[in-house]
Amino acid sequence: MTSLFAVIGNPVAHSRSPTIHQLFAQQFGHRLDYRRKLATDGSFRRVVAELFRCGFKGVNVTAPFKQQAYQLATHRSPAAQSAKAVNTLIPTEAGGLLGANTDGMGLVYDLRRLNVQLAGAKVLILGAGGAAQGALPDLLAQNPGAVLVTNRDDSKAVALAQHFPQCQAVSDWSQVDGIDVIINATSASLFGQRPELPERVAAEASMAYDMVYADRPTVFMEYAWQCGVERCADGLGMLVGQAAESYRLWWNVQQPEIETVIRAIRPA
Ligand code: NDP
Repeated sequence: MTSLFAVIGNPVAHSRSPTIHQLFAQQFGHRLDYRRKLATDGSFRRVVAELFRCGFKGVNVTAPFKQQAYQLATHRSPAAQSAKAVNTLIPTEAGGLLGANTDGMGLVYDLRRLNVQLAGAKVLILGAGGAAQGALPDLLAQNPGAVLVTNRDDSKAVALAQHFPQCQAVSDWSQVDGIDVIINATSASLFGQRPELPERVAAEASMAYDMVYADRPTVFMEYAWQCGVERCADGLGMLVGQAAESYRLWWNVQQPEIETVIRAIRPA
């Protein structure tokens, strides 16, 4: 039997989720039909309700609807609760909707794949938007030694650190040293820009990770290399990782293997 899934967003035509989920399905011998659904602020709830009425087994939610999906969910995973955002909807037997946020696990899966040791590590997060907030619960669950957050607008980093007391907001770079892992959770790379990051701070890190992914290394990755960071990665693996966690939840299986899927969808 073929199971139905969809991703809802705006825009959504570019989404690679259908391809990624088909590649996971091949690993398990599952049959699925995964579609893209365009919605508007006004139609989001109606589109979701219609899909589940038609028997869809799961729905992914991408920008700009993750907060609306959070409101719509009748139950929420701890990560979704903490992030106040949902990217995975799962119908419950009682007729409700479980909302999960798999972005953080996606990042953790990818960092694991890249052999990045998070336990005890000093992590610097650049950015304090939805992606940073969504990733923090799962990141903190890996027991890092410290997590520092900086943001162009300081007040948002302070608010994030209030939400996650294990994090420390920093605005004065002289307070920052000994960073092991830098995670760029800003959208700056989408615009060919990069967040502030002193060369001295970057040079000490063993990994610089940009959540944005592109056909070529991002400006942030290029800068990190110039500063002497040992290894850099973009967010394609996080994208596949968050999909893997959604897949695991929907199908109640082990985490799908992500390395081959990343290689299959990475542009030559
Ligand atoms: P938001 O709009 O919620 O936040 C954007 C963040 O980027 C803010 O912290 C903002 O700072 C900062 N920012 C934007 N432009 C600049 C700039 N030029 N210089 C410095 N900081 C800047 O977006 P999200 O948090 O939801 O997403 C951030 C990025 O993460 C997106 O590009 C998205 O593609 C990526 N992402 C990737 C995923 C993956 O699976 N790989 C999953 C989720 C997100 P300020 O507050 O000062 O405006």
